[in-house]
Amino acid sequence: MRLELNEAGRPAEEVFARMTDMRGGDVDWRSGKAAVYVFHSGDDVLQVAHEAYGMFISENGLGPAAFPSLRRMEKEVIQMALALQNAPESAAGSMSSGGSESILLAMKACRDYTLGRREIHGRPEVVVPYTAHPAFNKGAHLLGMKVVRVPTVDYVSDVEAMAAAVCENTVMLVGSAPCFPYGLVDPVADLGRLAERRGLWLHVDACVGGYVAPFVREVGVEVPAFDFALPGVSSMSADLHKYGYAAKGASTVLYRDRAMLQAQVFDFDDWPCGRMVTPTLAGTRPGGAIAAAWAVMNYLGRAGYVDRARRISSTREKLTAGVRQLGMDTFGEPRLSIAAFGTAQFDVLAAGERLYAQGWFSSRVRDPDGIQYMISPEHDKTIDAYLAVLGRAVADVRAGKVAQSGGDIRYS
Ligand SMILES: *Cc1c(COP(=O)(O)O)cnc(C)c1O
Repeated sequence: MRLELNEAGRPAEEVFARMTDMRGGDVDWRSGKAAVYVFHSGDDVLQVAHEAYGMFISENGLGPAAFPSLRRMEKEVIQMALALQNAPESAAGSMSSGGSESILLAMKACRDYTLGRREIHGRPEVVVPYTAHPAFNKGAHLLGMKVVRVPTVDYVSDVEAMAAAVCENTVMLVGSAPCFPYGLVDPVADLGRLAERRGLWLHVDACVGGYVAPFVREVGVEVPAFDFALPGVSSMSADLHKYGYAAKGASTVLYRDRAMLQAQVFDFDDWPCGRMVTPTLAGTRPGGAIAAAWAVMNYLGRAGYVDRARRISSTREKLTAGVRQLGMDTFGEPRLSIAAFGTAQFDVLAAGERLYAQGWFSSRVRDPDGIQYMISPEHDKTIDAYLAVLGRAVADVRAGKVAQSGGDIRYS
């Protein structure tokens, strides 16, 4: 039986009671039990995002002439983003609905920009490290492009192998800052030199790092260079709904040059309403997402982000020390907000499944097997509890009290 719209409507209290009931089964992220999906940086930040989103809930970013407020907020968000990423005067960018869309838009811009300047026979190719986000393959699928995934060394891009994978159809190289699986920054400076040498577009996927790395550096952690200060970097994706602590539905895609952004725009004229120019995939764009990002950035300021970066960095140190005490180690040396860890000594995924059964959510990695942990600022309050639960799970696995892991990693 298919559910149908109820006949008379329901009182709002009843609607909310039902939703409260439904969310009873959700991960309890407010108690620090989600190390993926949610980026909790404090109730005050949530309230600012919530109120700003509500204030512009009906406004539509599709109509900048009707809503100069949104045009101005997006422009200011992009200016702040470009400044954080040491972008030159010529740089430009736009907001999008998320990292996947930012990546897809950068690929579209690269494709059209390059095809306007160079002949390509066959599908334009994108050379990425094995650790790059699946959004590149999704983008290539939609854009008629091809992704070549190149094996990594020590969990980061093998620049020589990537150079060898470049062919006459290659248009784009990709580095991550950091990659999602292990939280490690690719050697973007070397990739930039390769891009310059071969006349290629280098995209830096800083969906995670864009809004955390600049501040982690300020608390004294060394992070490899990856921004526009490197002359070989052409574009960057950086998510506001991750470490910008904005409401979901907000990312930025940035370009070294305005002409590159122009290649992202879709301009159409052949229908009854006349010319329609849309910079992103969407038509209607939620005003709330733009407003919440602007509000949170202004509310936090540099000091607010530095404070969150300090909390993240101390949690990362605790996590790293804790997993080493349990006989595991991180894969590579993470310096930002993601760490993946494991060991060849026991079935770490079985320990992860034990945590999962107790309501602690995180991602997992394979090659090798490991648990991936994405740190929120608020995790500084719960990292000790996490390590205690992890310790018990590991002890049970070592004692043979836990079933072997299923092995298959699913994200749905
Ligand atoms: C999250 C993420 C993406 C995709 O972003 P969405 O907002 O989930 O679409 C891309 N790359 C990296 C490295 C990410 O962490």
